[in-house]
Amino acid sequence: MTTTMLQAVARVHWGRWIADCPRPGCVNAEHHGRDAVTGHVGGLTGGRFRCAHCLLVCEVVWPADVDDISRVLASRPVPANRNWAPPETVHDLLVENLVHGILPDADALGGGFQVSGAARLALESGVI
Ligand SMILES: [Zn+2]
Repeated sequence: MTTTMLQAVARVHWGRWIADCPRPGCVNAEHHGRDAVTGHVGGLTGGRFRCAHCLLVCEVVWPADVDDISRVLASRPVPANRNWAPPETVHDLLVENLVHGILPDADALGGGFQVSGAARLALESGVI
């Protein structure tokens, strides 16, 4: 096992939280939790990344709004479209949803959300 100052960065790929191994030359990624198909538990946990390929162990950088990101992405009907990576914001995801006709339900983001800027203008003008 190798401990390093490298940091893995959490992102969402097809609705699943993953992180790419930060070790140069290693192209592995680890997922969070148990895989629904294989049952394999990934090397990405709340505070630690463990690469099954190169055995790197390091810290993970998670966004502050994990739950909001997950909730907004979950409203997308096609798992292949549930993707997020820094520096995207929850607002960016909401705008993408609106552009594709996915309207948030009343419970989204804890009971409400704010649409601003171009998305608000588009909604109010009937563009989306
Ligand atoms: Zn690795």
